[in-house]
Amino acid sequence: MGNITIPKGLTGQEILNDNLYNKGMAFTNAERIALGIDGLLPPMVSTIEEQEVRVMDNYHQKSTNLAKYIFLMSLLDQNLTLFNRVLVNHLEEMMPIIYTPTVGEACQQYSFIFRRPQGVFLAAHEKGRFAELLRQWPGKDVRVIVVTDGERILGLGDLGTSGMGIPVGKLCLYAAGAGIPFHQCLPVMIDVGTNNAEFINDPYYIGLKQERIRGKAYDAIIEEFVMAVQEVFPKALIQFEDFGNLNAFRLLENYRNRVCTFNDDIQGTACVSLAGLSAAMRLTNRKLQDQTFLFLGAGEAGTGIGELIVSALVKIGMSADNAHQRCWFVDSKGLVVQSRENLADHKIPFAHDHAPVPDFLSAVQALKPTVIIGVSGQAGKFDKQVLQTMAAINEQPIIFALSNPTIKAECTANEAYTWTEGRCLFSSGSPFDPVTIDGKTFTPGQGNNAYIFPGVGLGVIASQAKHVTEGMFLAAAETLAEQVSEADFETGRLYPPLNTIRQISLHIAVAVAELAFEEGLARVERPDDIKAFIQSQMFEPQYPSYA
Ligand code: NAD
Repeated sequence: MGNITIPKGLTGQEILNDNLYNKGMAFTNAERIALGIDGLLPPMVSTIEEQEVRVMDNYHQKSTNLAKYIFLMSLLDQNLTLFNRVLVNHLEEMMPIIYTPTVGEACQQYSFIFRRPQGVFLAAHEKGRFAELLRQWPGKDVRVIVVTDGERILGLGDLGTSGMGIPVGKLCLYAAGAGIPFHQCLPVMIDVGTNNAEFINDPYYIGLKQERIRGKAYDAIIEEFVMAVQEVFPKALIQFEDFGNLNAFRLLENYRNRVCTFNDDIQGTACVSLAGLSAAMRLTNRKLQDQTFLFLGAGEAGTGIGELIVSALVKIGMSADNAHQRCWFVDSKGLVVQSRENLADHKIPFAHDHAPVPDFLSAVQALKPTVIIGVSGQAGKFDKQVLQTMAAINEQPIIFALSNPTIKAECTANEAYTWTEGRCLFSSGSPFDPVTIDGKTFTPGQGNNAYIFPGVGLGVIASQAKHVTEGMFLAAAETLAEQVSEADFETGRLYPPLNTIRQISLHIAVAVAELAFEEGLARVERPDDIKAFIQSQMFEPQYPSYA
């Protein structure tokens, strides 16, 4: 785990209780004597490889996914290096536990399964003390902060402080996916209350039992948090995560050019989706500028993807107006068209001159899209009729059912392949098992933001970029799309296998850092070899020697 040294003065028990220093049974005999812990451990000495086998045996004996999640979180609390090693070596298997869908279930039950706090909790009534509270975190060299206010957790809505499982999960993926040392990662929960009546009435709920603070008072809380981070952790990238769309767009606009920040739900999702679309274009010899995109859901994810598609089209020579015309949206009130009143700001660039259309199927029939993208949080909305219509209009319809967790997906992989006679290019937000149709097996790709944010974050913190730009996300999408091979595509994947994520993250980080240097945003000197420079900052999950 990089250059970890144990500070002088810690007792043996304190060392064993600190997940950063603890090696459990892997402390050598010499270390045990030197650290004064030989009496506190049984005599056997294990290697990290043996510990990993033991962990995996225990893990596989857990009978539910939630039990697996609890087991992994308790390993994280005990031994960061071993936790990381297990996650890195079994990422594909553990991703659905550490992240969607199981993390969603864990957040819903977070107050009930709560064991130990992970991260910093900034409650609204502590406003005025946020810098002081951030200083209580033991890590002094924090480089990535994932922060949420818990208002829009996956597609599950307002989970208040129980949403803390999401920043923790994301930071596990930063560590495993991009080798960012755990002690440089900080999860933060800003508790401004919850409008979840069930939680307010739940005796176990661990957050503030009050209605969400809104308006100027809310903005002042966020402002104090952002400024406190500049003061306490000036090198930290702030990732805004799972904020409701009442606040998310405004916060992104307020801060994107002031501090080092991005919003994963808007920009990370856009990036991974554009990468999947670009891979689909390359592998089927089609062009992005010839596609018509129809979205179900015009929130953070949807309009974020739309805007990045527009940026990609503008980059290849289309006017911004024409590029916006390529993207159409259906929200809960039907097709987003110019004649609609009181449209939210983020929808206005996509409100085109068209007669009102009441529902998604009618919009598919009217607009004849080549691509449909589901980001509505509404299960089953890509039904048999929608999918069959897409298959009738297109030789190879592109179907992205991105809503999370699995129970919220607009369609399953099986439905998508079955109702398009195996002709569609499919991607989902949550993982689906392979599907066999007429003897052909399709392995659906997961448009998982984990392909993007660890690499973008690594590039940003390695170059110490002042801001995270749209260009960086375009570069990240192109880089990810290039990693998809013919062999991946043959099995139906629009993304490379997740077990190559460290290499993917490294490539993305290099592309992002190069842009930071080119655009004059980097705050470190440009190294001769950017790749070697970044690689040297990625930790390998090995124990340090304390002898
Ligand atoms: P959001 O709340 O900002 O937006 C949801 C949108 O869906 C809104 O525009 C709303 O009007 C629309 N909607 C709701 N009910 C509808 C209906 N019946 N018909 C049509 N539209 C309807 O949420 P978001 O951040 O955009 O996320 C939406 C979904 O996308 C969530 O389930 C989330 O988990 C998922 N998501 C997936 C990924 C990924 O897989 N990479 C990333 C981010 C978000």
